[in-house]
Amino acid sequence: MNLFEAVKDQVTARAAAERYGIRVNRYGMAVCPFHPDRNPSMKLDRRFHCFACGADGDVINFVARLFGMKNGEAARKIAADFGVAYSRSRASPAQMYQARKQKNREKIQQERFNSAQRRFFQIFCDYRQTLDEWERRYAPTDPDGWDHIDPRFEEALQNKSRIDYILDSFIGGSTEDIAGLIAQYGKEAASLDRRFREDDRRRQEKTGRGNDGHGFPGRSR
Ligand SMILES: [Zn+2]
Repeated sequence: MNLFEAVKDQVTARAAAERYGIRVNRYGMAVCPFHPDRNPSMKLDRRFHCFACGADGDVINFVARLFGMKNGEAARKIAADFGVAYSRSRASPAQMYQARKQKNREKIQQERFNSAQRRFFQIFCDYRQTLDEWERRYAPTDPDGWDHIDPRFEEALQNKSRIDYILDSFIGGSTEDIAGLIAQYGKEAASLDRRFREDDRRRQEKTGRGNDGHGFPGRSR
């Protein structure tokens, strides 16, 4: 294994972050060092990803950015600090070509996954907020009101804790957990998204303006 492969194989972004003084909580979340962050927005395991500023990459990118180094320099620093052994032999042009192709494939996959997980999280957060809003706004106000319960109030009661569970699992989950959640709840997210859009469209037709607070949140997309 060459330097880059060996470092990425043996040191996670999370381990490097902790070693270089970043506090990572038990959910694998940390205050992002790459933007003015007040709550932990960065998820760290093998790689890192900030849900607020979008900073993303592997352990080498993380250390390079943290210390303002080039990637090669960062990889050598990690190898030295963590005692990572690597071979110094040069790869043949064919190997280098294959490695580059593989890297591009991985990069494309990773980008797809990142944008899928951002959308997934955003949709369920928006939905969760909407349910809160509905619970407040459409709660029956008098004792007789319980005979005619607003469907939005009912939906809020039925779904809130389940959506909390999805969001908590997402925030506390590893990359694999998140992939599992997307596989399990991706269809629901897509149908919620269609509902949001449909609702936006109808409301705009009716009022000629954006969100009036009664339906799904108006979102800029
Ligand atoms: Zn950030």
